[in-house]
Amino acid sequence: MANAAEPDCLFCKIVAGKVPSDRAYEDDAILAFKDIHPQAPFHWLVIPKVHIATLNDFDPEHAGLIGTLLLTAKRLASDHGLAGYRVAMNVNREGGQVVFHVHLHVIGGRQMKGALG
Ligand code: 5GP
Ligand code: ZN
Repeated sequence: MANAAEPDCLFCKIVAGKVPSDRAYEDDAILAFKDIHPQAPFHWLVIPKVHIATLNDFDPEHAGLIGTLLLTAKRLASDHGLAGYRVAMNVNREGGQVVFHVHLHVIGGRQMKGALG
């Protein structure tokens, strides 16, 4: 499901500026902002501005947008001088997703171990 905005979606409210956030970058398509409960010294979220609930809702037409999300993660890490970092996306409740507006976690500033640690 992809809509311009979902009235009850927290991240749509952040995009609209109705909920405050520490914003890093934005353009017409994407927004990057700090996670409110960081899991590491560096923890930012990169989201599309349009409401797309989960990775499963991406279609081939979103390939460019998906690329932009990843390139924004790279730019965030580079601009903050991270030598290494993790990019993660939780999918559905079973995958740990809590906010159902697609987002990349960009996490760093501490040693990452294995797939999860
Ligand atoms: P998920 O578990 O859905 O992959 O991740 C959702 C993330 O959104 C969590 O890391 C959580 O800390 C973050 N988050 C939840 N509410 C807010 C908020 O109001 N503002 C910001 N900046 N981050 C939030
Ligand atoms: Zn949304």
